[in-house]
Amino acid sequence: MVPKRKHTRARSRKRRGGHMKMSPVATIICPKCGETTVPHRICPSCGNYKGKEFVSLEEQ
Ligand SMILES: [Zn+2]
Repeated sequence: MVPKRKHTRARSRKRRGGHMKMSPVATIICPKCGETTVPHRICPSCGNYKGKEFVSLEEQ
């Protein structure tokens, strides 16, 4: 048998203090709108990621 899934990151890190090792908050500045946002995520402010608009916020 082969394990179906890896452990989640949280599960692996919690095992032996691994959850304290990384920097608490990683942030980047969105090149589109200049807001502080989380890397590798769509910007919550303007909906852009890597120069493309993934989420349209124009309907608000
Ligand atoms: Zn943005």
